[in-house]
Amino acid sequence: MQRWMKTAVDYLFPPRCPVCDALLAPGSEICDGCEKEAVTVREPVCARCGKPLENERQEYCGDCARKKHSYEQGKAVFVYRAGIKKSMYRFKYSNRREYARFYARKAALLYGGWIVRKHIEVIVPVPMYPKKKRRRGYNQAEVFARALGRELGIPVESGLLKRIRNTVPQKELSDAQRQKNLKNAFQLVPDVVKYSHILLVDDIYTTGSTMDEAAKALLSGGAERVCYVCISIGAGF
Ligand SMILES: [Zn+2]
Ligand SMILES: [Zn+2]
Repeated sequence: MQRWMKTAVDYLFPPRCPVCDALLAPGSEICDGCEKEAVTVREPVCARCGKPLENERQEYCGDCARKKHSYEQGKAVFVYRAGIKKSMYRFKYSNRREYARFYARKAALLYGGWIVRKHIEVIVPVPMYPKKKRRRGYNQAEVFARALGRELGIPVESGLLKRIRNTVPQKELSDAQRQKNLKNAFQLVPDVVKYSHILLVDDIYTTGSTMDEAAKALLSGGAERVCYVCISIGAGF
């Protein structure tokens, strides 16, 4: 977008702070006071899932030390707490889709280099069950994927993976139930993947079952590497 046009758009639709939702002065992306509430993930992190770790001598979090994931490696932008928790709630349920640009900028800043090193060819958002998406009006993972694609100049394919089962919200289930709940929840359309290095994106990473199932579907279609970036993650100790 041209600079003058962006200024005009900011004037007509003033940007809101992604943490406290207050109107911002044109040109700024977060209030000064809120910056510290948006805590980004820092080293040491789990070498597999990207969760923050307490101890730098540890390579994997407890979860990843125990189980094998189908994805190769993942990164998260923010620690899921305080300001970011509230921010993501509004992003998901109150139509604050514009926050995606803030999340995507941070993601590009932190992981742009890593994404290049992984030779990512395409970004694929974790899909939502169609009926659920119609009800909500949008899939927040897709909104984030589009913003990230724009930041990095990488194409986004939201039609590649389809959610064919309406699953129970993961947070209500135990670890074993989560895996069962998601079994074969995703399908490839069409069922041949023309990309070999794919970046999945989602809003939040909890146990990784969603990411694993989505990655499995992509790998079964011929992808060689599936990595991910999610907006936020809990601490992993
Ligand atoms: Zn604020
Ligand atoms: Zn881990």
